[in-house]
Amino acid sequence: MAAFVPTRAAGLSRLREFTPKVARYSEDRDFDRPGNQAVSRLSPWIQRRLLTEPEVIGAVRQGHDWTAVEKFAQEVCWRTYWKGWMEYHPEAWSFYREAVTRLRRAPPAGYAEALAGRTGIDGFDSWAKQLVEEGWLHNHARMWFASIWIFTLRLPWELGADFFLRHLLDGDPASNTLSWRWVAGLHTRGKVYLAKADNIARHTGGRHRPEGRLAVDAQAVTEPPLPPAVTPWTPGPELATAPGPVGLWLHPEDLSPEVSLPGLPTPAVVVTGWSEAMAEEQAWDAKVVAFTQAALADAAGRAAETWGVPVETLRAPALGAAVAEWAQRRGLRSIVALRPWTGPWLEVARDLEAAGKAVGLTVRWGRRDWDTRLIPYSSRGFFPFWNEARAWLTSSLEPSPVVSSRVAPPSPAHADPPAGYTPTPSARTTHLNRIRNRRP
Ligand SMILES: Cc1cc2nc3c(=O)[nH]c(=O)nc-3n(C[C@H](O)[C@H](O)[C@H](O)COP(=O)(O)OP(=O)(O)OC[C@H]3O[C@@H](n4cnc5c(N)ncnc54)[C@H](O)[C@@H]3O)c2cc1C
Repeated sequence: MAAFVPTRAAGLSRLREFTPKVARYSEDRDFDRPGNQAVSRLSPWIQRRLLTEPEVIGAVRQGHDWTAVEKFAQEVCWRTYWKGWMEYHPEAWSFYREAVTRLRRAPPAGYAEALAGRTGIDGFDSWAKQLVEEGWLHNHARMWFASIWIFTLRLPWELGADFFLRHLLDGDPASNTLSWRWVAGLHTRGKVYLAKADNIARHTGGRHRPEGRLAVDAQAVTEPPLPPAVTPWTPGPELATAPGPVGLWLHPEDLSPEVSLPGLPTPAVVVTGWSEAMAEEQAWDAKVVAFTQAALADAAGRAAETWGVPVETLRAPALGAAVAEWAQRRGLRSIVALRPWTGPWLEVARDLEAAGKAVGLTVRWGRRDWDTRLIPYSSRGFFPFWNEARAWLTSSLEPSPVVSSRVAPPSPAHADPPAGYTPTPSARTTHLNRIRNRRP
């Protein structure tokens, strides 16, 4: 099975391979067959936005009518829906993290066996091992696994969600936490997802037959209701008006800054960073760390090439504060970035904002048009959200071939380099050539 290579080029190549298969997606997607050719396996790239949602849906639309791709587009939109729902209910994340910290201190009986895939339950044990080895599971395997974890093994859902998030290459605070809550009966209150042995046998082509081993009836997990929805963040002043010189902060939740971000000012420098303390606190597995760091390096390389500017990589326990201090030392007046979503990277962003304020640095967040349009519909159930998303997609999203790169339009007013920085002639030339050759 092809490995997940953490570059945008590899994601585009996977997208090209999948596009001709999309017409069979709706019929075949529920089957967890060896190789999983019926599903896209694009999630590690989409989660980090090494590929963006509009380009993924636009690519599969090429050569197919809407009905052939609708189911796939709907699944891509589930991801946006979960992200939006979490913005309205951030406590779904903070309460979950608190529970993980508490439960990790005194794990319940059976927890270690479940993690090691030593429960004796056919299917479950293989998925536990596949998750640790490969960092990816088919959607149905995730649902069956979560259901068995909660209702058969009777383990706390939070520890299962944590196991996923530590090992999944596509680990996403919103999709993961809220899917586990959905299986447990906490999202649609009282409505659980109960895995059945015959369904598992049928959808795995008979590879797994856990007859007689699964709970046959399930009590929904209960908890006090989450606090009422909050008003989610919405974009403030345009990124293009951030005072220059501007530094672009790249974080792992949006790694294609050169794709479809017309308002992004031309940065004078690109900054990325890593916090070992955060990685340790989240307990990310080594392969997740390696994948994320390589994806960051790939994005930084593309950004540097697109704008012909240098890249700075910081390593610090308190990354947000370190970026602000560094920006001040470099003579930058602003840091701009796509705003991270509820989860650990938003915490870094908040620290950056606070530290920036203390030193008089402007910190400005942007948001992609896709999110700005769709997030407002995600406060309720998925289907009202999908009605709006579908109407927008069918009226405005054009089919588009998979491309290898797209260059953001320049904004010369903000191209001034920071004090002390002299671009090399070759960097500047690459930048200008790219601008001249950019696609309309
Ligand atoms: C318990 C549980 C935990 C999950 N945790 C994550 C997670 O941490 N990160 C994550 O990206 N997805 C998560 N999912 C959703 C889904 O399982 C994966 O996105 C999907 O299996 C990825 O495989 P694919 O790229 O082949 O998907 P495809 O079926 O090819 O779908 C295309 C894209 O649509 C999106 N998508 C598809 N199904 C879903 C879904 N149900 N929810 C949200 N987005 C979806 C993904 O971006 C995916 O790449 C979880 C599902 C469950 C049941």
